[in-house]
Amino acid sequence: MQAYFVDGSTMHLKAAVNAFRMVEEQSFVTGGWGPDELFRKPGYNQLAASLTNTHNSFEVPCGSYAHTKLTRALLRATRDGRYGDSMERVIHNAALGSLPLQPDGHAFYYADYNVMAKRIYSMHRWPCCSGTQPQLAADYGINGYLHEPGAVWVNLYQPSALRWQEGADMLVLEQSTEYPRDGRVTLRLSSAPRPVSLRLMLRVPAWANSNAVITVNGDRVPARIESGFAHLERVWHEGDEVMLTLPMALRLEALPSNGGPMHLETVALLRGPQVLFAIRDPWETGALSLRSDALLRAEQTGASEWMVRTPTGPRVFVPWPEIGDRMYTTYLKAI
Ligand SMILES: [Zn+2]
Repeated sequence: MQAYFVDGSTMHLKAAVNAFRMVEEQSFVTGGWGPDELFRKPGYNQLAASLTNTHNSFEVPCGSYAHTKLTRALLRATRDGRYGDSMERVIHNAALGSLPLQPDGHAFYYADYNVMAKRIYSMHRWPCCSGTQPQLAADYGINGYLHEPGAVWVNLYQPSALRWQEGADMLVLEQSTEYPRDGRVTLRLSSAPRPVSLRLMLRVPAWANSNAVITVNGDRVPARIESGFAHLERVWHEGDEVMLTLPMALRLEALPSNGGPMHLETVALLRGPQVLFAIRDPWETGALSLRSDALLRAEQTGASEWMVRTPTGPRVFVPWPEIGDRMYTTYLKAI
């Protein structure tokens, strides 16, 4: 990507686009990839096999750091929102919720997508991931927005403020949100010395389809969505407020086939960008089987907790940062 940015080498851009496609075709629902730190030969059913034959499913800090760097560069080069979608997925389901680095150098390393999984520290002290975890945290801010003269692209929904020079004026755009706990995002042009003509682009994730709602100063506006971004073009005044509401409905996603047999029955439960992980009892074994319609009717029972009714009692589901030291599974068998 540096060869493209510095020399304009489209050959290198195409190589990066192809590399990302290869990774995406064998990515888990979390956005993570590379069980046992290997890419898998397409057509050999190895992703499905990894759900039972390894606990080393995704090297979180190093993998997420590389993933956010590549998707940020591809987003900058192409302005295609699907790279932002992918970045967001890795951030919410892998990077955020990593166990904190310990003073003696023990670091979080692998996410575990086995049918019986647990979050643990690497046995090694100061591994590669002890270095990339702080780098990942340091980059969090620069993943949020892209800017060019006359245009701002909002990539991530996170409480933040963007300050930039537009001509002679210093502008400030403030973002407030509880996303992804809540699908509402408010953007307020809190400082603009005079009216400013500006294109504001908001990433609308692919899972939101055409159900995102955008209002400007309380009035609903039709938004043209192009390559995953809603385009709002107008003369803005200080105090103008944009609200984006993303539909946070539950849905199921099947394990990718990666060129092999489809595994439509091997699914994960999602809400917005977040995977909901099923909590398991330590004495359970094997894959967890649940009815699809019961999964899609999960009831929210806490700020970050959902409950699915099953014939044997309630089953708790939580996002990645809320798992703690409980046993969990990422994928289940839908029946
Ligand atoms: Zn590492």
